[in-house]
Amino acid sequence: MRLYLLELGNIRHDWAPNGRLPVQGYLIRTDDGTNVLVDTGFPAEAPPGMFELPPGQGVVDQLAALDLIPSDIHYVICTHLDPDHAGNHDLFTEAEFVIQRSHWELAQADSVPRLRVAKPHWDQPHLKYRTVDGDAELLPGIELIETSGHILGHQSVLVRLPRTGPVLLAIDTITQEKALDPENRPMTNYDLDPDGVRASTRKLVDLARRENALIVRGHDGVQWDTLRRAPEYYD
Ligand SMILES: [Zn+2]
Repeated sequence: MRLYLLELGNIRHDWAPNGRLPVQGYLIRTDDGTNVLVDTGFPAEAPPGMFELPPGQGVVDQLAALDLIPSDIHYVICTHLDPDHAGNHDLFTEAEFVIQRSHWELAQADSVPRLRVAKPHWDQPHLKYRTVDGDAELLPGIELIETSGHILGHQSVLVRLPRTGPVLLAIDTITQEKALDPENRPMTNYDLDPDGVRASTRKLVDLARRENALIVRGHDGVQWDTLRRAPEYYD
């Protein structure tokens, strides 16, 4: 099994540690040729000034560099439907999307305005969504970890690699190094339930310690630059 870290552009934020908040996606390729994508990046028509997409980045170009096209993807793990994570669902017409039931119901209720930014991309009748409840194994070595808090039904992903060992994709539960401390971590305006964020942070930190897992933080330009990014991979 291989894990590729995909470069899906940047969120524009002056306060990022090195002036950059990467939008991070992931591709897991199993030994039997199953392709599992984790998140799809922001929509092309997002409000100007919100995101930037350097040449060669973005989900289509990053997959193309691996000789893949969107219809080669079998599963898309949707961590949540924020615009920087769900902007291109409609490209993955052959995939089954896997999402927490609570998040899917929240999105359907249309009560969180920021989920509307990418809605034209995920709210499509021809896309296949499978809902799951809580922690679940998607495939051998690929586990969904329910981490509500940032938003209801957010999920993180644990990938068990043969050589590297376990890698925990924390996504927006732990986006920066300073968010690794469950009790004293900062919150942002996008963390809708601070108590839930603290509990989910504790859950991930404990899991990583137990499993001796590498935590990949969700939007960390400093860590990101130290990691192997596609077309390189972890195996
Ligand atoms: Zn995010």
